[in-house]
Amino acid sequence: MKEHNFNPESLMMTYGYKPELSEGAIKCPIFQTSTFVFKTAEEGKAFFELAYGLREKSPKEELGLIYSRINNPNLEILENRLCLWDKADDCAVFESGMSAISTVLLEFLKPGDLLVYSNPVYGGTDHFIHHFLDKIGVETIGVMPNQTKEEILEMITNSGKADKLAMIYLETPANPTNDIVDIEMFSQIAKQFSTADRKTLVAVDNTYMGPLWQHPLQCGADLVLYSATKYIGGHSDLIAGAVLGSADLMLRVKTLRTFLGNMVSPHTAWLMLRSLETLKVRMDQQTKNAQIVAEYLKNHSKVENVYYLGLLEAGTEAFATYKKQCSAPGAMVSFDIVGGEKEAFTFLNNLKLMKLAVSLGSTESLAEHPKTMTHAGVDPEQCKKMNITERLVRLSIGVESAEDLVWDLEQALEKVELKKMETA
Ligand SMILES: *Cc1c(COP(=O)(O)O)cnc(C)c1O
Repeated sequence: MKEHNFNPESLMMTYGYKPELSEGAIKCPIFQTSTFVFKTAEEGKAFFELAYGLREKSPKEELGLIYSRINNPNLEILENRLCLWDKADDCAVFESGMSAISTVLLEFLKPGDLLVYSNPVYGGTDHFIHHFLDKIGVETIGVMPNQTKEEILEMITNSGKADKLAMIYLETPANPTNDIVDIEMFSQIAKQFSTADRKTLVAVDNTYMGPLWQHPLQCGADLVLYSATKYIGGHSDLIAGAVLGSADLMLRVKTLRTFLGNMVSPHTAWLMLRSLETLKVRMDQQTKNAQIVAEYLKNHSKVENVYYLGLLEAGTEAFATYKKQCSAPGAMVSFDIVGGEKEAFTFLNNLKLMKLAVSLGSTESLAEHPKTMTHAGVDPEQCKKMNITERLVRLSIGVESAEDLVWDLEQALEKVELKKMETA
């Protein structure tokens, strides 16, 4: 027989777990324990030497279990399985998406450095950039999705801090507008500003697409970040985050995690192991449903614009970038309702199957109003530039029957009254 490599979805049930170490249990138990017993004092010493980087690992040696802030079987198996989707060397899981993001920014940025980031970014990330990084003297430049490479290069050069460009942080597709940026182009920009003793890193928040439909590390990014609360958890019952990348970068991320103590708990890691088993079937169904929903909305008289990757028009730059770096259009659909806040709220208040809540990527469909909810803290001028207006509604599409979802949208839109046309 020819060599065969299993697809990640085939490995999500078993990879990295040895039943013989757990009484033959088919499923990995929850290792709800704070500490681990060493066989001998010599073993304990050897484990700590590796954990604290006091010596190099010998070829066959693996870091033994010490203490659940440093390592725990549920976390390690989860991290090994997440590595398969993004083809990463290593992964670190965190107690939230925000703790994954803030740990990466803290580890790789220091006072005096320059950070370039794409707009819009998640509200929490936006806050961390403008209210924390500013405070510790990290300079930041926000770029818009429609800016050209030349314009971005000029902004960096004109800042006078080009030699301090430590990181480019991207979120693509962006929440809530599905704007996309070209990861490969930004990794070329990063190369251009890297020096012999400082590599400019590219970090990508892949929450909207991942880990199935886009693989930033394969497009030249150095780190990929997730709010695992979303598709990876997928059932709206946990908060978690993840970071993946090369072994050398992940060693730094994991070391800071050890000392911030913001790793995920064994129980939450166990829930995510369970979630990963159905990740592909859930996400496949979600994106199929989303395409049907987007097409229905596009043709509705009370809907003006639909922001969905599956509706991008061939020939546009966004379409080219989408084709290059995404394998599916995802399950997030935003649209402008005809009218304003009143019409949007009438629609939201009348949904019967979809729930009115923030968050995304879960089995149940959710609807929200970005301007007054998820993006309420974003500068109003900035919101306007990014099409986050009173008319915008954001949907996260779940695994329900598409027929039922369309029925729900139809009946809720029916309740929305169009303003009487002004007579000329
Ligand atoms: C939800 C979200 C986050 C934050 O994750 P938490 O798990 O809520 O901390 C970060 N980025 C994006 C794109 C998100 O949607």
